[in-house]
Amino acid sequence: MQHDPILPPALNLIGGAWRPAASGREMAMISPIDGQPFAAIVDSGPEDVDAAIRAARLAFEGDWGRLTAAERGRLMLRLALRIEAEAEALAQLETRDNGKPIAQSRADMAALARYFEYYGGAADKLHGEVIPFLNGYDVMALREPHGVTGHIIPWNYPVQIFGRSVGAALAMGNATVTKPAEDACLTILRIGELAAETGFPPGAINIVTGRGEVAGRALSEHPGVDFISFTGSPEVGQAIGIAAARNHIPCTLELGGKSPQIVFDDADLEAAAPVIVNAIVQNGGQTCSAGSRVLIQRGIWERLTAMLAERFGAVVAGPAEGALLGPLISARQKARVERYVAEAAAPLIARGTIAEDAPAAGFYVAPALFGPVDPESPLAQEEIFGPVLAAIPFDTEAEAVAIANGTEYGLVAGIWTRDGDRQARMARAMRCGQVFINGYGAGGGIELPFGGVRKSGHGREKGFIALHEFSRLKTVVHRFA
Ligand code: NAD
Repeated sequence: MQHDPILPPALNLIGGAWRPAASGREMAMISPIDGQPFAAIVDSGPEDVDAAIRAARLAFEGDWGRLTAAERGRLMLRLALRIEAEAEALAQLETRDNGKPIAQSRADMAALARYFEYYGGAADKLHGEVIPFLNGYDVMALREPHGVTGHIIPWNYPVQIFGRSVGAALAMGNATVTKPAEDACLTILRIGELAAETGFPPGAINIVTGRGEVAGRALSEHPGVDFISFTGSPEVGQAIGIAAARNHIPCTLELGGKSPQIVFDDADLEAAAPVIVNAIVQNGGQTCSAGSRVLIQRGIWERLTAMLAERFGAVVAGPAEGALLGPLISARQKARVERYVAEAAAPLIARGTIAEDAPAAGFYVAPALFGPVDPESPLAQEEIFGPVLAAIPFDTEAEAVAIANGTEYGLVAGIWTRDGDRQARMARAMRCGQVFINGYGAGGGIELPFGGVRKSGHGREKGFIALHEFSRLKTVVHRFA
């Protein structure tokens, strides 16, 4: 394959050097826009992952580990500025790699820069504590980095997830090894280049590309890793959790969701309708916190479903610059979503269309709204990871709570009502990690702690609290005369 100068070369970033696989193996990247191969990446083996972990350890015990918290923060702020300066080129690369509409890629780059700004600013602000104890004792709880942290990242928001996870880890002084997803990793490689140019010591940020079951598994099982941050599917998350337990290390697991938006009959429907549609169409519904179920109180069923149908029917999936909906990430993902649509045991209320100029070999799927959907059916229980919304009617608040909490997941919930008491009751009743009232951010907000319960995972990333995950406490008891 001819190398295109705007694409990063097929190399890993290990200890500040760009290296091919020890085996020399590469793998092709397929463009979601037209289904054609367009770039190559390193198909890393366990030996490449091992080299990256050793490089991270050297950095942790060397130049990177010796920096003060303020110096680390300053480097991160410089990288944030560099990302902002290069944002348009990075966004173009991301859209090429991932297929997402350019507006989404631009939003992703703004979020990435903001993560490095936020965590760079926070690097010297998370203190340990002095704890009152017996007379004649000083007790300190020191906050320390874990050491070498591993970051396994999915393809849906590669740079946002890199920013929130690697950013928080670096702020606390860890040296990092990232295994991005094989379906979308080129922009993360470019960020690695920018970080090196910004002055990060070699080995603080290592990036090894390749297949999940080879490179990802090698990273998650390696005894040289002190902490794992994983974002991806519940199935792989479980394997990562087991590997972490075997090595006796902590991990955060950010997994899937089947997040409900609950609309009561006193809600502002004009405000709710566009937000509900956007929460499932954004990024092709390939968002862990996508609002994939809408629970509608019976009295407004006809009115709200008609409003949603009008909006769904108007969505055109295509490659155009202004398209709300781009292609899905892969042929596999497209086939999976189309299978759910074909096998749906519920009436189809509305379906969008695919643009005429969309390449036939691209991975486009028209959005679909189904209802009334049985809350126990696959459409209402399983994460589809596509632009498919299940509308479910309910009568009482208690019924809404039971349906909302009635899946194995628990990531985000949206509550739409003007009743203040009900807002407070519902926020407490939701079994999940994040609740929006009269709005829906789909995981939005760098500052807002984010994470799930049960099959949606555990641990919290984003916000200041994430710095607790990426560090650990050591109690020092000093007895004095
Ligand atoms: P995935 O689990 O297949 O892959 C995620 C990452 O794990 C990739 O880098 C992949 O290469 C790697 N991987 C795959 N198998 C592995 C193994 N055996 N050992 C170690 N690593 C392995 O998930 P995906 O299909 O890329 O992403 C979609 C899923 O991610 C959805 O379920 C979605 O809900 C979830 N997700 C969750 C969040 C969140 O914050 N909660 C964010 C984005 C995506």
